[in-house]
Amino acid sequence: MNSPGHPQRGRHTPRFDATDGWNPLTLGVLAGVWIAALSNWPLWRALLALPETASLRGALFVLGFGVMIAALLTALLALFAWRFTIKPVIAFLLLAAAFGAHFMGSYGVVIDTTMMTNVLQTDPREVRDLMSWRMLAGVGALAGVPLLLLWRAPLARLRFWPQAGRNLITLIGALLVLALLVFALFADLSATMRNHRSMRYLINPLNSLYALGDLAAQSNAKPAGPPLPIGLDARIAPRAAGARPPMMMVVVGETARADHFALNGYARATNPELRALDVLSFSRVMSCGTSTATSLPCMFSHLGKADYEARGRDHENLLDLVQRAGMAVLWIDNQAGCKGLCERVPHVDTCTGDDCMDEVMLQGLDARIEALPAEARARGVLLVLHQMGSHGPAYFKRSPADRKIFQPECTTNVLQQCDHAALINGYDNSIAYTDHVLAQAIGWLQRNQARYDTTLLYVSDHGESLGENNLYLHGLPYAVAPSEQKHVPMILWPLNGPTADCTRSQRDVPLSHDNLFHSVLGVLGITAREYNPKLDALAACRAR
Ligand SMILES: [Zn+2]
Repeated sequence: MNSPGHPQRGRHTPRFDATDGWNPLTLGVLAGVWIAALSNWPLWRALLALPETASLRGALFVLGFGVMIAALLTALLALFAWRFTIKPVIAFLLLAAAFGAHFMGSYGVVIDTTMMTNVLQTDPREVRDLMSWRMLAGVGALAGVPLLLLWRAPLARLRFWPQAGRNLITLIGALLVLALLVFALFADLSATMRNHRSMRYLINPLNSLYALGDLAAQSNAKPAGPPLPIGLDARIAPRAAGARPPMMMVVVGETARADHFALNGYARATNPELRALDVLSFSRVMSCGTSTATSLPCMFSHLGKADYEARGRDHENLLDLVQRAGMAVLWIDNQAGCKGLCERVPHVDTCTGDDCMDEVMLQGLDARIEALPAEARARGVLLVLHQMGSHGPAYFKRSPADRKIFQPECTTNVLQQCDHAALINGYDNSIAYTDHVLAQAIGWLQRNQARYDTTLLYVSDHGESLGENNLYLHGLPYAVAPSEQKHVPMILWPLNGPTADCTRSQRDVPLSHDNLFHSVLGVLGITAREYNPKLDALAACRAR
């Protein structure tokens, strides 16, 4: 095959194997070992922290698990071990694994389908909030160094069939190693995966690949076309003569956790303004998801969490139904968008700069209402304000300079470098600012009471981990997410009149995002086939 007698390399013809470059397969195996051993440090850290890996048997299991991941990656890369594919595929895996390791290792998040949805739906502002020197260093070490070596590595020229044979043998060999290890370690493997379900989402970068594949499968499985209409029979219940039309403002909070609201018993004064108003804070409300992308569509759906997650088709939402019933609808977004909810109703984005203080949503609001169709307004108005709220990790950006009650504040987005008290200060300042924004919103509604029967309902989309059990941010799979990410505040105004005592007695009733759709329809006095009075949190106390 080769011509050992040739003194000069250049005389090989391209059809023959050359010995002066790397075989793509070798690069693939090296990359698999690198990623398994180094880019999976958050997984190794988590596994080695488990009590069951403290023994020699446990240590051998962790080692075997590492070899399994290396074998799986080698099998995958053997499929791409060709001159023109190996480098791009290795580069992609190295980068995916390095970014994955940074976010998992720094924030305690895991990478599953939901997290990947969040990543794909994120906007440049959110990305800027997450960037740090620490991230650059981490990604540089795990991906930059091997990428540099990869880029400089000359590749051997190969003949097709011998290479195909080698790739196939490597693929079979790697799968055999994997199968043998699964067999040998099955007891430990199944126990660990069962008892620590989030571990599987730490396997890097297979978690990202799986999530991308799952998302692609989901979007293929959904029939194309517009969402199924709802509320085809929706109508407005007759009002007493002379009664004002309803105006309901739903404020969708962001990343606010219930236990940091003074109204719910938090020891710090995070609700100084709402405390002075006739509000009711529901104390036991659970979110539908642990991220904006999962919670928002679920909150505005008539289906409720269980049926929403099992749905075969997408449906229209609360906004479509209210508009179909004949009322005016307006979505004001001060964050990363309405996730498709407001596509068919009037909507406006108020967040164009970097900081996007939530009070901006109240500026010029009268003019925005005036611009809605007059005959629809006469029947009623549904306003949705989507807050920036307490969106992390840069909590210190979520309150204006003159409203920082709690000092000092952590001013980095590298949360685990923050002094814990300073981190909480920054977060609590964002909650106190939300308190101010809600009080301002109630003031605006009070000024409109002559024309409208006004109501405000505030509910956050999900909570946030602030370092409990070394977890930060949000977005863990619902089944394993701690209550900090799921227990959300919900506040109703006004609490007055003959029904106030009854409503106040509902304070500790267990509620969830499932109740939002039906409670809003109840307040607006809209009936439809989709309305379920049992899920209307305010129905029990409504004067009829
Ligand atoms: Zn959110």
